[in-house]
Amino acid sequence: MSYFDNVRQVTPYVPGEQPVVTGDLIKLNTNENPYPPSPKVKDAVEALPIDEMRLYPNTTAAPLAEALAAYHGLRPEQVFVGVGSDDVLATCFLTFFAGKDPVLFPDITYYFYDVWAELYRIPYERIPLDENFRIVPDDYRKKNGGIVIANPNAPTSIGEPMDFIEGIVKDHPDSVVIVDEAYIDYGGETSLPLLQKYKNLVIVRTFSKSRSFAGMRVGYAMADSKLIEALNSVKFSINSYTMNCTAIAYGVASVQDEPYFREMIAKIVKTRDKTAERLASLGFTCLPSQANFLFATHETVPAQEIFTYLKTKNIYVRFFNKPRIDNYLRITIGTDEQMDRLIETLSGMLENR
Ligand SMILES: *Cc1c(COP(=O)(O)O)cnc(C)c1O
Repeated sequence: MSYFDNVRQVTPYVPGEQPVVTGDLIKLNTNENPYPPSPKVKDAVEALPIDEMRLYPNTTAAPLAEALAAYHGLRPEQVFVGVGSDDVLATCFLTFFAGKDPVLFPDITYYFYDVWAELYRIPYERIPLDENFRIVPDDYRKKNGGIVIANPNAPTSIGEPMDFIEGIVKDHPDSVVIVDEAYIDYGGETSLPLLQKYKNLVIVRTFSKSRSFAGMRVGYAMADSKLIEALNSVKFSINSYTMNCTAIAYGVASVQDEPYFREMIAKIVKTRDKTAERLASLGFTCLPSQANFLFATHETVPAQEIFTYLKTKNIYVRFFNKPRIDNYLRITIGTDEQMDRLIETLSGMLENR
């Protein structure tokens, strides 16, 4: 017997490396946005009275929940705001998956899902994607305690239409179905309209990617008010004050600048599609992307070798040493200049082999 026997031991999620960005380092490994947040956010930074810091923040981040509700055509009681969508998803797992049957999600998806399931001792089962990395809804037709789908999926970048998601939500009226829409702004079809029809659907979004807020930590869930109330009850059982006053104010400013948001997204989508073509001409195959990253494999050179080479050239991409995808690289879309250097570096490597 040792004092350590009662210590909870878990295998944590391993995020992409965060090297100090200096000089010519190009960081394409954690799907961050290469462009800054809206200039309206900068105004909000300057406008926030320092005295606000003295007071506890709004417990439900109400100004931000209200802004998001108005933006999406929902009621504020249908929105739950958290410290990035990781916080929101972790709270969802703890709240919605308290049953005995396994929670189902794809074998290849956001690798944090298994970590939360393990942490909270939730039974779970990974359902294999098919050989084209697509979700097979029939494979989910079994007893379950909930379902989690990232749409578009990560790291595959593949998105499915709303009808497809509706099929799954409809098949499982007795389960909460979470749709993680972290990348939806880059061209995927949102399942938001389904909230009018299904009380068992939860849609989770993040400000980290499309709103350039990775360092600010803002994410949110949208669902029927009964599920949002359940989420709040769990959150208020851990920490009432998750969202700090700055994150709330900056979040509101971001939501209120739609033109900037659309312009930035359009730029990234254009760069993505151009980059996919250029990679194809170098012998890469990219899965069809509806995200701000490409999932690419080369016809002859192993992914790990390319990953290591790029790092020596100060270009960071993501390599997952996991079954089925260990010959793929996940490449975040940066600026046009950053993509130019990526392509030049890759051509140089492939020519000299
Ligand atoms: C990035 C990401 C998240 C987490 O984002 P936060 O920075 O915690 O908001 C959640 N799900 C998926 C699929 C992601 O790619």
